[in-house]
Amino acid sequence: MTIEMDAFLTDLKNLNEVCWKNPNFGESSDSYFSLEDILDASNRLDRFAPYIAKVFPETEPTKGIIESHLVEIPNMLTTLKEKENLTTNGKLYLKCDNDLPISGSIKARGGIYEVLKFAETVALESGKLSIEDNYAKLADEEFKEIFSNYAIAVGSTGNLGLSIGIMGAKLGFHTTVHMSNDAKQWKKELLRKRGVTVIEHEGDFSKAVTLGRKEAEKDPTCHFVDDEGSRDLFLGYSVAALRLKKQFDQQGITVSEENPLFVYLPCGVGGSPGGVAFGLVTIFGPGVKIIFVEPTHAPSMLLGLYTGLNDGISVNDLGIDGKTAADGLAVGRPSRLVGNVIKPILYAATTVDDDRLYQYLTLLTDSETIYVEPSSTAGIASFVDFNQTIGSEEAFVKTGTHLIWGTGGNMVPENEMASYYKKGKTLL
Ligand SMILES: *Cc1c(COP(=O)(O)O)cnc(C)c1O
Repeated sequence: MTIEMDAFLTDLKNLNEVCWKNPNFGESSDSYFSLEDILDASNRLDRFAPYIAKVFPETEPTKGIIESHLVEIPNMLTTLKEKENLTTNGKLYLKCDNDLPISGSIKARGGIYEVLKFAETVALESGKLSIEDNYAKLADEEFKEIFSNYAIAVGSTGNLGLSIGIMGAKLGFHTTVHMSNDAKQWKKELLRKRGVTVIEHEGDFSKAVTLGRKEAEKDPTCHFVDDEGSRDLFLGYSVAALRLKKQFDQQGITVSEENPLFVYLPCGVGGSPGGVAFGLVTIFGPGVKIIFVEPTHAPSMLLGLYTGLNDGISVNDLGIDGKTAADGLAVGRPSRLVGNVIKPILYAATTVDDDRLYQYLTLLTDSETIYVEPSSTAGIASFVDFNQTIGSEEAFVKTGTHLIWGTGGNMVPENEMASYYKKGKTLL
């Protein structure tokens, strides 16, 4: 395809870090989703809570609700102020989805939700479950047998595969994860240990998804989790907003136009940040300012939004390779669903160089003893860049609440995490 190049696209093409303010922010738009959709998803997760608590004992403390902590990270803020010459009186928080139970990343929201929704449909259709039942019975042999007549498949860079694979296999579904061959070895091994079929494909994430979808279409009993356009994934992520509202209330944090909430979300295909963003704007209103961040080597959502082509353009069309250490964000073409939904609610977007991801990983470990994977530190870079560029000119930024969304980390093997840390140390 031929693309009319301008200064901004040239920056993207040259892998320069950028900060972009969305000119469509605040426009009215078609409503693809509603508050009722979020509540429906939330109620479904509540129905499954007794089952989750039973089969994943690590969720007993939260009674089967898969949720992460909200923590203030004042030491990291001090470190950033010194290192980056930041001036702010705002408060800095981390949403610890890097620590989510069961699969250790933000994908434990959408991915697990979609598998549970499919399981519920199958179980209700079997006539052996009714919506008023205690869903703990789904752990019984009888249901495992029913689920074994069905399959679930997904194409993934890794973390979505972990969520779908672990949950699908636990319920008793035949579960297949299609991965690009650059996906991490430990993720493939972990899945195979849990009884999941892992199929490796040459090429990138989009290719793995396409081939996975094709394979799944041949099997009428197979449910394909489509990371490039699933409504269920999106809504599973959106429930985070209801949970965050509760945590804010408990910690006395208010959100309004005078006390805005800035949220920094790492973006791959767009489903997780899109779902969370939609939820937050729906629950908190116009006081929420959403900022997405992508690697300079994979600015797929930004490219789709800027050109207005959404999934009609890939970073490869601009000569960008899509290769990044942030494997959760290594996506060349954005979701076909999310671009239109977030067009009027996204406030800004930034891109980040891979080296800085390692540096922030090390700084976060040193200042707060919090361990996250490289994809997950992109939000820290975005916080810094937004505050130093677009945000420096705007009211309330320096006094607002800033929330970096941690997205992955606690499944990463210790030796792998140690080498990330060391790499960050040498780059600092
Ligand atoms: C998947 C992922 C993201 C981004 O989510 P998308 O739905 O692909 O946009 C961010 N961080 C981590 C660690 C992830 O695994």
